[in-house]
Formats: sequence, C-alpha cells, structure tokens
Amino acid sequence: MKLTGGKWQNWSRGVRCTPKTVIRPKEEVELAAAIRATEGPVRVPGSGHSFTPLCASEGTLVDLSAFTGLMSADPTHATATFLAATPLWAVGPALYREGLALKNMGDIDRQTLGGVVGTGTHGTGTTLRSFSAEVAAFRFVAANGQIRDCTAGENSDLWAAGRCSLGMLGVMTEIKINAMPAYKLVEHSFLLSSEEAFAQLDTLVTSNRHFEFFWFPYADRAVCKSLNFTNEPAPDPRPAEDMRAGGERSGADARTFALINEVLPFAPFLLKPSHRLFSQLMPGRSRVRWSHEAFPSPRPVRFNEMEYAVPRENGPDCLREVVAAIRGKKINTGFPIEYRTVAADDVWLSPFYQRDSATIAVHQYFRVDTTELFGTCEAIFRRYEGRPHWGKRHTRSAAELESLYPKFEEFRVLRRRLDPDGKFLNPYLHALFE
Ligand SMILES: Cc1cc2nc3c(=O)[nH]c(=O)nc-3n(C[C@H](O)[C@H](O)[C@H](O)COP(=O)(O)OP(=O)(O)OC[C@H]3O[C@@H](n4cnc5c(N)ncnc54)[C@H](O)[C@@H]3O)c2cc1C
Repeated sequence: MKLTGGKWQNWSRGVRCTPKTVIRPKEEVELAAAIRATEGPVRVPGSGHSFTPLCASEGTLVDLSAFTGLMSADPTHATATFLAATPLWAVGPALYREGLALKNMGDIDRQTLGGVVGTGTHGTGTTLRSFSAEVAAFRFVAANGQIRDCTAGENSDLWAAGRCSLGMLGVMTEIKINAMPAYKLVEHSFLLSSEEAFAQLDTLVTSNRHFEFFWFPYADRAVCKSLNFTNEPAPDPRPAEDMRAGGERSGADARTFALINEVLPFAPFLLKPSHRLFSQLMPGRSRVRWSHEAFPSPRPVRFNEMEYAVPRENGPDCLREVVAAIRGKKINTGFPIEYRTVAADDVWLSPFYQRDSATIAVHQYFRVDTTELFGTCEAIFRRYEGRPHWGKRHTRSAAELESLYPKFEEFRVLRRRLDPDGKFLNPYLHALFE
C-alpha cells in the first residue's frame, strides 16, 4: 500500500485520507492482535480501485501487502486458496501453473482478490457469476481479534453475508476460489450501429460466453467485444513479472484519448468527432490468448464511474433511456457507456442477489465534475430498480438500499453482532450500515 506524504488515495484520485496509524502485519496472529488492540475506524484497502470512499480512514489503515500468494491448489476439485491481498495479475499466472484458471474476470487485473470479493466485482457472461459468488471458503479476523473460517456448511450466516461485505465484518486473510481447467479464449471486436446492436443484442448476449459493448452516445455506435472458448494455438502466457507491469501501459491512442478528455469541457463541438474517432480506433484484431491474458485491458486514462445492475430483461430499455438523456441534455463526456450481463447469485449484498442482471456503467474523466452525468443517469437507474456497484459512485441512502436488497437489514444485524463498536465503519459506511 502506497502512502504519499502520509496520505492514501484511490486510483481515480477522488478519495483521499490521512490515517493516524498504518499497521503492516506480517502474519495472521500479528494482524489479529493488532485488530483487537486498535480503535476504529479501521479500514483495509486492496489496490484502491473503488471509486466510493470504502477504504478511507482518518484512524487506522491496514496494509496487507504481506498477505499475497498462492497457498494451495486442488486441480481435482478445481479450487485454489490464495492469501487475500493477492493481486489478480498474479492470480492468473499462479493458477495457470496448476492447470487452472478463474471462470471469469472483469476489465482489468489490477485489483486484489480481497477487493474484488469484497465488492461483488464482475465480468460479463449470462451464465457467469460475480467474484463474490465464486468464493468456496474464506477466513477472516473479526473486530475482537477472533479468527473465523467460513464455508457454505460452517458459519453459514457469515458465509452468506461475508462474501460481499466491503470489509465491514473483518479482515479477510485467505480466500478459496472456484476455478476451472485452464482455457484459451478467442476475442473478436467489431463495430455495430446502435440499431444493429439492439436488433442483435439477445443473440449476441446468449450465443457468446462473454459479450459486452461500449456505446459512444454521440457517434451512435457500439464497439462490441466477444470472448469464446477455442482450441486454436495461443502464445505462451507471459511471466507474472510482465503481468505486474501490464495494467497502465500507455500508447499513442491513450495519450490522444487523455488529451481530448482534457479539452472536451472547453470544446463541446469536439464531442461528436471524438466519439466517432474513438469508436473507430477501439476495435482491435481478433486474437487468441490464455484466459487470464484475454480478459484484462490496460486502463491508462483515469476516470470516475457509476454502474448499476438492473433486471436483465430491462437492460436494453434502461440503456436507451441513458443514451437519450445524455444526448438530450448534451452532457459532456468523452467516455463510452459499458453494457454487460451477470448471472444471479445468493450473496446477501451482491448486486446480483437472486436476479440475472444487465450492468450499465457511465464514466467521466477524473478531472471533470461528475454531477450532471451521474445525477442524470442515476435518476434513470432508480426507475429501473437498479442496484449500485458498491465500489462505484452512487448517492443511495440506507433506506433506499434496504428496499433494493432483501437481506440488507439481516446484514446490518449480523454486522452489529460481530462489530458492536463499529470498529470497521468509517463515516461513509456508518451512514449506510449502522
Ligand atoms: C479501472 C477500473 C476498472 C474496473 N473494472 C471493473 C470491472 O470490470 N468489473 C467490476 O465489477 N468492477 C470493476 N472495477 C471496480 C473494482 O473492481 C472494485 O472497486 C474492487 O473492489 C477494487 O478492488 P481493490 O483491490 O482495488 O479493492 P479496494 O477498492 O481497495 O477495496 C474495496 C473493498 O474491499 C475491501 N477489502 C479489500 N481487501 C480486503 C480484505 N483482505 N478483507 C476485507 N475487506 C477487504 C475494502 O475494505 C473495501 O471495502 C474497476 C475499477 C477501476 C478503477
């Protein structure tokens, strides 16, 4: 965990804090003793890729950098146990060496396992669930320093609640994750007009293992991306050290994209041409790679993001409204809208709890005010009973969240039982979960 001048900040630079204390435990017993002795608020950042102030603490931050690496793999049952702060860029190569792979991943591999499980992070695929739902077991240190193991059969309420709990039940130290035999994916990316994308959406979503698109509202074009199993030859996977460096590599396209986003607020006449340009540049060539290299893409240009999960059948209508509102109000954003699908699960606070979902994400350059774009879109997501991504911007109150999550109150009761003094709550979480 990196502090600059005693300050911690998240990836998008929108969340900052100055912790009084940073604890850097080397092993679990040391962590347990420190948690027992420490007064709140105690927060545990992963890699800081959440846009909401989940990790901010003016009290104590826990640096889990020592808790990385593969502990054991079980190819017979296709599971593997990792220390909880292992970054995803290291998970892929470690699993590959055991002949295994994650079932799905999101857009990037910079986050930690604890972070993606903690917020219900997801990729795309109608049959594929979030990271939280693919946890097979986990171990954590509770507020009183007690170490607890959870599986579907052991501590079942902690299991149902803990797999997506924003670090409020305790500090995860080990995560056993479901995997599958290592596989290759062929990627196709192509451009469709908005009309074509909507006409073919059902087929595209159901006939590809993974399908997503990025809609540039002012170009009225969708950049589509599919990933499917293949036996075609793929280059050998890169070593973990190469993967570590991969995330924010910046090419000429990224520099142009950043530059245009810098000037767009002062040059709205560039909206249409820039959306046209970027929708032309974005589709890449078809290529075959091992899965852990096929899923992530570099994200060299910083942004803030809002993403909601709506019932899958309502996804296209909701998206149409979002695009119409952005265009109708001439909202200034250089970024496309991202559309994905995720399968229902049984994790209490998962945005996909008992609901097959479509996710719709809007982004704004990190130096640009998000109020108009996010406010406009959130009003639409609200009408579609959208559930916000916990790591991405939203303004929902505790009462609203309670109406969206059938198990919200049960979660709160469990949280209070486990952490009666609110040690793991910062002011943001206190307002929502106390
Ligand atoms: C460029 C970018 C791309 C993204 N792409 C996607 C995507 O494709 N799909 C998607 O769903 N989301 C995506 N996200 C959101 C991101 O995956 C989530 O916000 C995720 O939680 C970030 O992981 P992290 O390791 O950075 O965790 P942080 O943001 O640092 O922490 C997230 C939460 O997890 C908790 N936590 C972390 N480690 C532990 C632990 N060991 N024990 C207990 N709690 C812990 C923290 O306390 C916090 O509450 C993206 C974000 C960015 C910036």
